Amino acid sequence: MAATGTIPSSILIVGSGVFGLSTAYALAQRDAFKNSTITLLERLDFPAPDAASIDSSRIIRPDYADPAYAALMSEAHPHWRGGFGAEERYTEAGLCLVQDSTDDSVDDAAHYYLVKALENVKSRLGLKVGRRDEGGQVEPMETPEDVARVTASMGGDCGRRGYVNWTSGWADAEAGMRYMRQLVDGIGRVKFRTAEVARLHYGTDRVEDVELVGGERLSSDLVVLATGAWMPKLVDLRGIASATGQVLAYIDITQEEQDRLGGNPTLLCETNGMFIIPPRNRVLKVARHGYGYANPTTIPHPERPGETITVSLPRTKHDDPNLNIAPEGDQACREYLAKCIPSLATRPWTHTRICWYSDTPTGDWLISYHPTYRNLFVATGGSGHAYKFLPVIGERIVDVMTGEERDELGAELVKKWKWPAQRKEEDHVWTDDWRGGVKGMILDEELAKGEIGALRSRL
Ligand SMILES: Cc1cc2nc3c(=O)[nH]c(=O)nc-3n(C[C@H](O)[C@H](O)[C@H](O)COP(=O)(O)OP(=O)(O)OC[C@H]3O[C@@H](n4cnc5c(N)ncnc54)[C@H](O)[C@@H]3O)c2cc1C
Repeated sequence: MAATGTIPSSILIVGSGVFGLSTAYALAQRDAFKNSTITLLERLDFPAPDAASIDSSRIIRPDYADPAYAALMSEAHPHWRGGFGAEERYTEAGLCLVQDSTDDSVDDAAHYYLVKALENVKSRLGLKVGRRDEGGQVEPMETPEDVARVTASMGGDCGRRGYVNWTSGWADAEAGMRYMRQLVDGIGRVKFRTAEVARLHYGTDRVEDVELVGGERLSSDLVVLATGAWMPKLVDLRGIASATGQVLAYIDITQEEQDRLGGNPTLLCETNGMFIIPPRNRVLKVARHGYGYANPTTIPHPERPGETITVSLPRTKHDDPNLNIAPEGDQACREYLAKCIPSLATRPWTHTRICWYSDTPTGDWLISYHPTYRNLFVATGGSGHAYKFLPVIGERIVDVMTGEERDELGAELVKKWKWPAQRKEEDHVWTDDWRGGVKGMILDEELAKGEIGALRSRL
């Protein structure tokens, strides 16, 4: 709207993850859009099982080094503690943020994040510092013994120091998305359709129409692209945002283990990005918030017919049902599980998954009109941390769309989320945001190491 100055009579949202669905929710409630038709296209029947927004769990935390996201979480948190979090969609069991070393010189990024995040939760949220059994809400852990006390039921070595925020928690991600979908359905203003967008047809300064797989074409006054890690297929985001594959592994546990571990805080290690979300229904998840894998794929240039470009795009179990995590990811999850919960060290994975972030250079999202195509708005670049904002992010997205800065935070967010003045020199974005693991891994190369290993073991 800000780009064209008029209220669009038709709005086409593509992608039904956190960004697309919450945008639909906010638009459907705004008076300004009461005469606009709103259509949401999603390539798979909702909820798309390989979408970043769909999983057993996501961490819900205000523990950010960046005060703007900590402030935005203050808006979202009451919703998780209310309707959004009801029926076990949200569990406030705490978040234990640790680092694996006490040497700041080797672990300085991790240490910086911990110190800043702790500062933010203390000063901005006014949380009471102290041990939980003495009424504290945020509990610094200065020594390995402090960490061991908080994580005692896990029985392993969970870190050297850090802090635990007992007011953080985790959400059943799929259940949260289903709840949001119910809210949108309840308003009755959004038309949902399962259809995959094949490409956008670009004119000189606008999107002329949207072509679906199968050839059908749809035109719309405003197109909102919210296709997460799949974005680079539809718009040229080289040097702006890229898909990076993250590893997840799940194990089945016994009822006794569920009872012992189920009430734990989430454990997140700032040194290597590894984390363990407490189990539910006897399933425990180990994962890594890492630089991830790039999956370079050569595709037709989304905006210039006749040219090709190479961009990283998701590869999921939907494309290849036999796709599992690569050996290095498997090993990282296995070693972390063995270190933190030794009793589960050899328990086999029931399944694994590569889940795709849309990564930006800074970890800030990309929520903006396209600088060239005036009726194209993009909402993406979640960078592995957008889920927790599900209840409120749509309102902020629509603020950007309408050019409203309802408060100081809004003004700051617009700056963070704007289309960058310059693209990174390298096409693929390896984020500079804090991450664990190694930078620069290529999916096929890492998967091939498993195939070679399997071949050797058969010889
Ligand atoms: C492993 C992992 C762990 C995470 N942990 C956390 C966490 O603990 N806390 C947190 O806050 N956040 C976390 N996140 C981040 C959060 O989940 C994402 O930032 C957020 O879900 C991104 O939402 P999205 O709408 O951009 O993408 P998605 O949820 O992927 O949605 C995009 C949708 O677009 C659809 N689509 C794609 N292409 C097309 C097309 N051509 N036509 C039609 N539809 C299309 C897809 O099917 C998909 O449904 C995590 C993410 C991952 C992957």
